Order: sequence, then C-alpha cells, then structure tokens
Amino acid sequence: MSSIRILPDRVANQIAAGEVIERPAAVVKELVENSLDAGATRIEVEFRNGGRAYIRVEDNGTGMGRDDALLSLERHATSKIAEAADLDRLATFGFRGEALPSIASVARFEMQTRSAGDDAGTEVLVNGGKFVHVRDCGRPVGTRLVVANLFNSVPARRKFLKSDATESAHIIHCVRLYALACPQAAFTLIEDGRAIFRSPECTTTAERVAEIFGRQISESLLVMEAAEAGLRLDGLIGRPGVGRATRHEMITFVNRRPVDSRTLSYALIESYHDALPKGRYPLAFLFLDIDPAAVDVNVHPAKREVRFRNEVQIRAFVIRSVLDRLRESAALAGPESALAGNPAAPTGSIAPPAREGAPGPAESRLAAPFPVYRPPVRFEQPVAPASPGAPPSFAPAPGEQKKPRINWRFVGLAHGVYALFETDAGLVLLDRRAAHERVWYERLRRQFLSGQVGSQRLLLPVPVELDAITTALLLDRLAFLQGHGFEISEFGRNFFRVEGVPEWMDPADAESFLRDLLGALREGLLMAKDLDLARDELARLASTRAVRMPDGTSPEEMDALVTQLFACQQPLTNPGGRPTFIELSHGELARRFQK
Ligand code: ADP
Ligand code: MG
Repeated sequence: MSSIRILPDRVANQIAAGEVIERPAAVVKELVENSLDAGATRIEVEFRNGGRAYIRVEDNGTGMGRDDALLSLERHATSKIAEAADLDRLATFGFRGEALPSIASVARFEMQTRSAGDDAGTEVLVNGGKFVHVRDCGRPVGTRLVVANLFNSVPARRKFLKSDATESAHIIHCVRLYALACPQAAFTLIEDGRAIFRSPECTTTAERVAEIFGRQISESLLVMEAAEAGLRLDGLIGRPGVGRATRHEMITFVNRRPVDSRTLSYALIESYHDALPKGRYPLAFLFLDIDPAAVDVNVHPAKREVRFRNEVQIRAFVIRSVLDRLRESAALAGPESALAGNPAAPTGSIAPPAREGAPGPAESRLAAPFPVYRPPVRFEQPVAPASPGAPPSFAPAPGEQKKPRINWRFVGLAHGVYALFETDAGLVLLDRRAAHERVWYERLRRQFLSGQVGSQRLLLPVPVELDAITTALLLDRLAFLQGHGFEISEFGRNFFRVEGVPEWMDPADAESFLRDLLGALREGLLMAKDLDLARDELARLASTRAVRMPDGTSPEEMDALVTQLFACQQPLTNPGGRPTFIELSHGELARRFQK
C-alpha cells in the first residue's frame, strides 16, 4: 500500500514552476514585478535566444541582505503579505512567495544583491533547485538576477516552448506592459545584444507610449480620464476610426497590474461599436483604479486574470467614460470626423447618461453628429428574415419578436433526418441537420466576432505534412486560424503540428478538419482581406463539423431546436443556402390530394 508523503521542496517547487513559469516571458514578468515591488526606478532586462538560454534582470531597488537573500528562495517566503486579510489590500505585484524558488528549481539561477545598510553584496547560486554556493560579492545597491538554461532540467517543459521568435515576442510584450504600468521607472530591454527600447523616466503614460510604441501610434490616441465613486479610469484610447485587426492592442491594467479582463475588453469593444468598422478592434491602453478589496487577483496562477466583485458597475462605467471621450473628440473634429457619416439610429437605444453639470455649448452641439450608443445586434434577437421574397406565414412579425413562438407540434422523425411537424397552417418537414448547421453557424459567427473562441489542447498533437503550396497558403493564414481557436505550429519544412483545436470541435476531427480547411484554402476560400468575410467562410465550414446530432429525438429536443433556429437571423436556410424546412400548407395538401 502506498503511504502519503510530504513532497521534497525541490519537487514542490518544480510543480509550482509548472503553473507559474510557463515560458521565458513568465520569468521576466516575475523578476520585473519583484524589481518594481522593491521600489526600483531603473530596470534593465536582457535576454538571449527567446529567453531560454539567458535572462538578466537588474534593478536599483532596495536589494536584500544575506539572510533575506537566502530566505527569498524558500517556498512561500515573502516580505509582502503577512496574513490572508492582506490579500484584500494588495499594493504589490507579488504576494505568494513562489516565483524565486520556482524559477531556481528549473534553471541555473544566480542572484547578486545588496541592501543599503550592507557593505558587501551577496551572491547566491542555485542550479536546477540544488544549492551551489553563497558568498560575498561587490555590487551597487539593488539586485541582479541571471536565469540561464531555463527548463534544461525539465525536458518535458522545454518541448512546449515555441520558436525563439515567438518566445522573444512574448518577452518584449511583457516588458512593454510593465514599462507602461510604471512610466516613472526607466526601462531598458536588450535582445541578443541589441536594444529593443530604452525609455528614460517618464511623467505620463502618453510619453511612455511614444517612447516604446513610436510617435505615430501615440498621435492616433486620445488621452482620457474619468472618475466615479471609488473608480478611476485613465489612459489612452484610439481616435474614432483608429482600429486594429486583432484584439491584441487593447491593453488593460487594474491597479497598475497588466491583466486580461473580459469585462474591460468587452466594454471597450462595445464602446467602439459605432466608431470602428465591423471586425476591427479598438486600440487602447487603459488603467482602471479600484479599491483592491473589490477585485480578486488571486484567480490565476500567473495573476493575469482578475475578477471584479461588481462586473456590471465596472462595465457601465467604462462604456460611459469611453463613449464620452469619443463623443467629445468627434465634436471637436467637426462634421468631417470619421463618425459624422455614421447614421444615428437611436431606435430603442440606451443613450449614455448626460454628464454631471450643465452641458456647455460644445457638448450640446456634439450630441448631433455622434451616433447614440446602441448595443450591438445580438444574434439571439430574432429578426425578420432579410431575404427578399414573401416570408412564410410563421415568420416572426416585427411586433412580436420577443416570443416568435411558432406553434409546431412534433410528430415524428423519418430517416433520422426529417422531422415532421403539424402546424396551424399545414405540415412542415424540417431538415434536422440543416437546422443544426444554421444554429451552429450563427453561434460560431457570434463567437468569432466577439473574439472569444476557446481552444482545447490536444492530448497528442497531430503532425501534418504538407506540400510546398499548401504550406505557403497555411502560413499565410496561420495567424487568422490561431485567432480562431486553432493552435498550429510550424515544425520544420512543410511540417506542422496541430496542438490545439477550437472548443466546439471534436478533437478526433482535428486532422480531417484541417485537411478540409487546406482544401478550402486551395480553392481560395478564407483568403479574403476582409476579416468578416473570412470569418463567415470559416464559420460556414466549421458549422458542418460542429454539428453532432443527438441520437434521441424527444419532442423537447425538437422543440428546442426549432426555438434555436428561429432565434437565428436567417432561419430559413442552412449556411450553404439550402432550405432548412419545407412547408406544405392546407391548400397545397388539398390540391395534391385532389380534395
Ligand atoms: P513574492 O514576490 O510573491 O513575495 P518572490 O518569490 O517573487 O515572491 O520573491 C520573494 C521575496 O524576495 C520577495 O517578497 C522580496 O522580499 C524578495 N525579492 C525578490 N526580488 C527582489 C528584488 N529584485 N529586490 C529586492 N527584494 C526582492
Ligand atoms: Mg514576486
């Protein structure tokens, strides 16, 4: 019988490293956070080979004495919180005391550090979790950490790393984020001996953005600032009409911590609904400041995600503030502004509440050119079919859109495919598969549009070998597919590996669907420059795959299918344009039966 054991620290650290240190950029993140927590005003980051060979982070922060330096490598050793309640008022990036021991357990880890009170610095060397030495060293006050041969001792982990170029992109992104979060510190980033950026201390975020992203970007941005009880939002947002093809440049911070927040990105996307063409994403560097007790940062091992206690309030605040700012800029730009041409369609819309205080003349003028906020059309909202031609009798009439319930009574299923319904008007034969395809198609389009395409990792990556032409086509569309739930990496000449597929897909279909996709690429599909078009095509292809028809056909299931179908924008056809059902009216039946 096996007995329970406490894991040796080294093993525990390596396990923790698996969660916290997923890639070289995560090391950089942890070390830079520590430097900032230590009050550094100068931080230098250098790395080689995408960070796997060498990462150095050096700061002029408080540094540590010898005892602390040794203690910092113990699991759960932290100087930042003392009790659980401290988690509710976190003012530092770190708090778990996991990073240093985790990193030291999977790399060659060298720390040199000196605190202001000490004459000599301390050098500690740990290799793959094994202590090597501690000794005095000379160095200025502050800390220098060198992490080399990352994951050498954990080959399984190393295999998951992507190309140097990809890992390096992650590191650069990460350092930019912290440089943005803390403009008052000087940052230098060096890759393979070449400076990516050097930014002196800055007084504003705008200056910092110009330093690290370039003047051109900074000129396309608007400075914004808004406050409300307990909430503050400031930063830079793209001028109306300035958008991006991906959501990667919506950069958000909560209490100066870079985070991915659905709440914030959705709010941004919605705010720009009328200020950007379809399929474009806002460009934004937004900082939300909020009472630390109203936000939980302890929901993700790498603390990348946050959860707000009051999502609704935050979302409304962000939308209102961003809209206000956009509206203001539109007014200043006059009628030639990008927004002026947009039709204002205030039907049943939620107008942003007026600002406090009496509107000045400028503000009352701007109400006209700026379109009133209108929530994006949801596919769930049944809309009358857009196609010309006489809509069938049961098409939801505009007035009764809320409950377009069709009085269809399920009679039975023929050939596993055709569902027969008795209706007030006669009979209906529904092609079950076509109906499912329509429902899936619109569901996927909706997901694609919101950018929320979940991906599932394959247990066993699927290798695919292609010819030169298909390789070129695939490479061309790789980013697009990756943005839609596929994880495909190049693995040598004409050789790829599918490592993840979209959530909706049966993993067993991975290879055959990829082959379908490649076939489609060869036919010129999915190559449209217009992102929306390409997405439609992808959704159309995917909808045929996504359908998994349930075996059972209870009347409830059939009812549900019909309800979902009629919640679609276009219930009459499948994504390929074939009818989803055929109607036989009483009159038609009477005629056929020569009654
Ligand atoms: P955490 O940041 O969660 O406290 P870490 O493992 O990242 O845990 O660091 C452990 C401790 O080591 C920190 O609490 C801090 O006291 C000390 N430390 C780490 N890096 C630095 C640094 N660059 N300068 C000064 N002290 C540091
Ligand atoms: Mg830390």
